[in-house]
Amino acid sequence: MPAELIDGNVIARSIRDEVALDVAKLVARGIQPGLAVVLVGDDPASEVYVRNKGRACDEAGMHSVTINMPATTTQQELLAQVKHLNDDPAIHGILVQMPLPKHLDADVVIRSILPAKDVDGFHPVNVGKNLIGDRDGFVPCTPAGVQEMLARSGTVTKGKECVIVGRSNIVGKPMMALMVQNGANANATVTVCHSATRDLKEHTLRADILIVAAGKPKMVTGDMVRKGAVVIDVGINRIEDPSTKSGFRLVGDVDFASARERASKITPVPGGVGPMTIAMLLKNTVRAAEQSAGR
Ligand code: NDP
Repeated sequence: MPAELIDGNVIARSIRDEVALDVAKLVARGIQPGLAVVLVGDDPASEVYVRNKGRACDEAGMHSVTINMPATTTQQELLAQVKHLNDDPAIHGILVQMPLPKHLDADVVIRSILPAKDVDGFHPVNVGKNLIGDRDGFVPCTPAGVQEMLARSGTVTKGKECVIVGRSNIVGKPMMALMVQNGANANATVTVCHSATRDLKEHTLRADILIVAAGKPKMVTGDMVRKGAVVIDVGINRIEDPSTKSGFRLVGDVDFASARERASKITPVPGGVGPMTIAMLLKNTVRAAEQSAGR
């Protein structure tokens, strides 16, 4: 029997509805959660993401500002902008859209954001809190969204073999830190695979929960999936497809058709992890506002 779908659109919708209720409660106390997104340059994909983030904030009743800076922005100018937002009491969350133009140092910029406003969860203070299991910090939105999808799809994680393909700082590593904690929706035995892993299939075939974030279209095929596994496909890849109007389509890092025949539950692409990222960003921003107000 083909796997059941874990529908990211449905789960993200419920999270965004919950966020809107939390926003209303805060607004009643005189606090409107505010998110600032800084976009440097004119990367079209980033512009779309940023626009969607702004719309999602508006829909949830949050305050949102987008700061567009030219591609020629200097490091000093960007740091001054971040400082201005750090000091602005109407802004509870700050996100600097990546990737930045090459002449800017992303690490320095990330470190300049106040950890209490770092709703992307990339500041070393938040990275450290995630690793030690301190839930007061902010967890990067994509892995946080994956954990939420596992929880809301009723997937048991305790004692399970969780194999993550990919070790990036934005997905693989924080995902590992989340799943290994001795707590709810975690407590798994975690393996992290990467490009130097000797026999990837040997690992993926052990996985009760297989999370793939490798950035390689359809890399994980059905024969690499253990029967009955829960498969979460983080990948978003644009591949050419002359049969579509646009000439391309989006696929994940998992070969959906063959993996679906082996898995018990699976996320589609699009409509899987993708919509969760913005939902978790809103959730983090509301929490930042609550924390700033002493809850
Ligand atoms: P990165 O390119 O930063 O990292 C990819 C990781 O996969 C690396 O650790 C790399 O190993 C590993 N990898 C690559 N090829 C193989 C292989 N053949 N075998 C084993 N491991 C391999 O990507 P990201 O983590 O940023 O993103 C991953 C995917 O998730 C992309 O498709 C991206 O578009 C998508 N994404 C989706 C989001 C969403 O909202 N749904 C948000 C963020 C990302 P090594 O470290 O050795 O190079």
